[in-house]
Amino acid sequence: MIFAIKPFEIHDGDGIRTTVFFKGCPLRCKWCHNPESFTVKKEILFDKALCKNCLRCVALCSANSEQSGKHVFEREKCTACGKCEEICPAGCYEVAGKDMSAEEIASEVIKDEVFMKKSGGGVTFSGGEPLMQVELLVEIAKILKKRDINIAVDSCVAISRESIDKVIPYVNTFLFDIKAIDEDVHISCTGYSNRQILENIRYVDKLGVPMEIRYPYVPEMNDCEVEAVARFVKELKNVRCLRVLAYHNYAERKYECLERPYPVADITPPEKDEIEKVVRTMKNIGLENVML
Ligand code: SF4
Ligand code: SF4
Ligand code: SF4
Repeated sequence: MIFAIKPFEIHDGDGIRTTVFFKGCPLRCKWCHNPESFTVKKEILFDKALCKNCLRCVALCSANSEQSGKHVFEREKCTACGKCEEICPAGCYEVAGKDMSAEEIASEVIKDEVFMKKSGGGVTFSGGEPLMQVELLVEIAKILKKRDINIAVDSCVAISRESIDKVIPYVNTFLFDIKAIDEDVHISCTGYSNRQILENIRYVDKLGVPMEIRYPYVPEMNDCEVEAVARFVKELKNVRCLRVLAYHNYAERKYECLERPYPVADITPPEKDEIEKVVRTMKNIGLENVML
């Protein structure tokens, strides 16, 4: 179950990459930019603001109806069949989630093989949490490895050791998130303990697989963790860089389209000065390669 395949990505590892977004994630980060990835089942994003009340969709299913000449959408009756996405002239609907085989996904990735190889790029498996569908991921990776395509896995690491072991033979680089070192802070930000996450990162480090660590910096949520994250990363041997990802609120509209509250609506994205100070603090702790 995939919710997007995006070619020509330049922020998901080295070079030009195709990023495959898997659906399903065990965490619930309050600032998540991809809330449509939370569950492994299909869902509809419905953008009410675009609706022209043409009422074409009303005949399709009981989730769409008309009241006083206006269109009404009832999410609880929607089966995410996607028929409305095809007929709505205003583009109100988007189905998040598509069942694809390993062969279908690999052939999408291979379309841009030339650009990937010329730029030192490859494929990045992201999400959601791609290792929640580790069997599918391994099948895709087997096909791509035969073509010598570089593979990165972007993971929140809140997954079993067994899943990591299954994927390691195919991975060139892991992109691992650390949201907080303090367990209580982590639980309040994501709803989940970080003990397994930190143990898994240490485990991969001991195996010598190159890692990029990503720290999403969110004011009022995990901004107290800057030094602790830097100290944790400093102890690791195979980290190529620590990347600070500054919080932004571009995803707010997606929450509206999913009819979910946006948990960090009151948080203001950090200014450039604040983020540069975070980077300086981390470098002062002894980390050479801290990037934005
Ligand atoms: S088809 Fe689209 S624009 Fe027309 S009523 Fe339905 S949601 Fe609105
Ligand atoms: S996805 Fe299917 S069930 Fe849901 S609103 Fe559209 S047509 Fe109706
Ligand atoms: S780990 Fe990533 S995909 Fe999962 S909830 Fe957090 S930010 Fe979203």
